[in-house]
Amino acid sequence: MRLSILQPHPHTHRCRYPIKQWPRMDASFHRRKDKVVVIMGATGSGKSRLSIDLATLFPTSEIINSDKMQVYRGLDITTNKIPTAQRHGVPHHLLGDVDTDHYGEFSPADFRHRAADLIADITRRKNLPIVVGGSNSFVHALLVQNFDPHSHSNVFQQQQQEEALISSELRYRCCFLWVDIAFPVLSQYLRDRVDDMLDSGMVDELAQFFDPDAARRTGFGIRKAIGVPEFDRFFNKYPPSMGQGGDDPLRERAYEEAVKAIKDNTCELAERQIGKIERLKRAGWDLRRIDATEAFRMVLTSGSSNGSGVWERQVLEPSVKIVKRFLME
Ligand code: ATP
Repeated sequence: MRLSILQPHPHTHRCRYPIKQWPRMDASFHRRKDKVVVIMGATGSGKSRLSIDLATLFPTSEIINSDKMQVYRGLDITTNKIPTAQRHGVPHHLLGDVDTDHYGEFSPADFRHRAADLIADITRRKNLPIVVGGSNSFVHALLVQNFDPHSHSNVFQQQQQEEALISSELRYRCCFLWVDIAFPVLSQYLRDRVDDMLDSGMVDELAQFFDPDAARRTGFGIRKAIGVPEFDRFFNKYPPSMGQGGDDPLRERAYEEAVKAIKDNTCELAERQIGKIERLKRAGWDLRRIDATEAFRMVLTSGSSNGSGVWERQVLEPSVKIVKRFLME
């Protein structure tokens, strides 16, 4: 089934939606903390689509990616980077910019530094920064007033000291939109999405990326992306140079195991990400939850939510209202 929640509505062009454009920020804006819209949510929850829809309606928006695998160059299908054609001309930053081989691991501290420079630049140009991505350690690192790279780099792994470590004192004025989906619906969508990714050429992409020497080293940078370790195991047994291998049932089984592992690991990632978002909320972050369950249910039953108006009514309109109010404040 072709799932299309990721695709902004085909008829949506910048400024098509019938709302008034948001007012340009006045001079007093610059005397206060910079404003940032932050779209949060588990992998696959429609954050990219929402960001493009919002950027279409608030046309001076620029998107800063906060998915720690999507910052790296390469593996566009495997890491689910929004394709250029679906970006509708909206500027994207930190999306596929970092080369693992030259840069190494891109840490939360690196993200804080690079994204803060981008926010300052976007704001100076009187545009609106929208931070979008599922890596909450990046979002946390960027936004908290005081960040200690040593104690904060894995802030979500330190169970007992959670309250002490997650500060609600932020260095920007933030408008948080949390796109949430009932987990059974999301997990079914994620499993179907893996099949779509396979149809779109994920295995070829991973085969070209496969490096038996690198695969023996522990995962680093983009090599940690879900899909790489799972298919490295497969390619170690059945190297891409061997070709398709005819009807070998053992090869077929190893392939199915790799696909199952990707599906399971993606659902686990989503569950962990939701847990982290809930912890941020408990720590006092003012996250506005938007329930996208119905739109996703529609995608599962009919392959698309476009045309039904459910996405617009249940996700886009409430988000637009929240962002408009935020920009007026
Ligand atoms: P964080 O904990 O920093 O908020 P996260 O929730 O994005 O980040 P992790 O829980 O650290 O991710 O990641 C779990 C696994 O999922 C890791 O192997 C990670 O590389 C992988 N992963 C995360 N995002 C993606 C993605 N967009 N594509 C593929 N794999 C991903």
